[in-house]
Amino acid sequence: MSGDKRRRALVTGGGSGIGLAIASTLAETCDVTVLGRDKARLDATGLAAIVADVADPGLRIGDGFDIVVNNAGIVRSAPFLKQSDADWSEMWRTNVMGAVHVARAALPGMRTRQWGRIVNIASTASLKGYAYVSAYVASKHALLGLTRALALEVLDAGITVNAVCPGYSDTAIMRDAVAAIAAKTRRSEDEARAGFLNPQGRLIQPDEVAAAVAYLVSDAAASVTGQALAIAGGEL
Ligand code: NDP
Repeated sequence: MSGDKRRRALVTGGGSGIGLAIASTLAETCDVTVLGRDKARLDATGLAAIVADVADPGLRIGDGFDIVVNNAGIVRSAPFLKQSDADWSEMWRTNVMGAVHVARAALPGMRTRQWGRIVNIASTASLKGYAYVSAYVASKHALLGLTRALALEVLDAGITVNAVCPGYSDTAIMRDAVAAIAAKTRRSEDEARAGFLNPQGRLIQPDEVAAAVAYLVSDAAASVTGQALAIAGGEL
């Protein structure tokens, strides 16, 4: 693309955590729109915003985005026998159907322009199991399956579809989980956090995920499609 026209990128869940890091990184080179349900959080980014729920089958985002990053996602943890159909449905509708709705809206325009990038923020839970998050793990495996299948359908249109699979990352979700475990088990937060550290002894930083996304949406990654890029400190 010529230097005077910036690509248009959409980052779902771009108002917080990993999505915010991705949106900020992409904003260095693209016109970025963030999408989420909390308007105040989106407005605080200073970027263009769409207030919407990705799980809404009537989701309207237009077909003008060259790049979409399906980052919006939720996790609920509970033993398998305590997860209801409603829990399964909520995670499926957000983590899988959310990406379906966004891709369905964006693909026709990408096809017309013969250029597009879809990046799905999956998880190490797309590549291995974890106890007490069965619905989340199943939804993230499905998101990777969608990534691989869709990549094959759009090969001929200059469009790539890839997944980035972070391990436990340093976001509010993780800080809340650490605080909850510390309170429940009467351990210190440091002790609770230790259970989430990867073999490098770290949590993944959102900027590390953003850097991987920046690569996958670049022209340099034109031949990379249908892939799962783990950012996991040796966990896999
Ligand atoms: P956050 O909770 O900080 O971010 C999730 C974002 O998704 C929020 O901005 C939220 O915005 C948005 N969102 C949630 N549901 C919807 C919806 N139905 N429609 C639109 N937006 C929605 O979490 P993280 O940054 O930690 O997670 C981002 C992604 O990374 C998720 O897909 C998660 O599964 C994945 N991931 C996270 C890991 C971690 O350890 N943190 C590890 C591996 C993967 P709002 O509530 O305003 O709608």
